[in-house]
Amino acid sequence: MATVLVVEDDAFVRAALVRHLSNAGHAVRSVGAALDAVREVTQIGCDLVVLDLGLPDLDGADALRMLRGVTEVPVLIATARDDEAGIVRLLNSGADDYLVKPFSPEHLNARVAAVLRRSSPVGPTPVSRVGELVVDSRQREVTLDGQTVHLTRREFDLLAFLAARPGAVVQRRELLAAVWQQAYGGDQTIDVHLSWLRRKLGESAAHPRYLHTVRGVGVKLEAPRS
Ligand code: CA
Repeated sequence: MATVLVVEDDAFVRAALVRHLSNAGHAVRSVGAALDAVREVTQIGCDLVVLDLGLPDLDGADALRMLRGVTEVPVLIATARDDEAGIVRLLNSGADDYLVKPFSPEHLNARVAAVLRRSSPVGPTPVSRVGELVVDSRQREVTLDGQTVHLTRREFDLLAFLAARPGAVVQRRELLAAVWQQAYGGDQTIDVHLSWLRRKLGESAAHPRYLHTVRGVGVKLEAPRS
């Protein structure tokens, strides 16, 4: 059994997908837009995404790119287009497999099972520890040096995303997608939240301890070198 996220805007198709996957024993959640899918995947996590290509907010290739910006979970493309070149392009951009609509429940479940067999389970780690900083994504609690740090929802999401990737430089567009569910813009928004977060962690851009800005690239969180 796996947790499957269905991303499909057509209510009839979505209900059918949820029913077929639930009948096969999976825990199923569903959303109707790509940005909702990005939020679900980053905040809750899942084992597999079934992604419709014709979504109202983003083109299928962009939706896949945004998902790939925030997660390694397998993505099974569900497409009404019998467009071989398009499918090949998506497989090359990180999709794991595809189904051409309409498909039978048996075909869907066989593809899902095959993709899950090939993948190892991934999802947000509930507790990240970086130096003396502990970020508990399940309880949404942060402690630093044993003291609770009170954060707003966005500050928490931003810190949790960075803490799950300690030492890695995270690009601004990844943060924008994962924390704000936006595809473009928002540099100032990120800067403002980073500066609030720094203050709450008792540091500053001039004297960083955990949060380091890498000019022109992004941000990384790492334990202070002592
Ligand atoms: Ca659609």
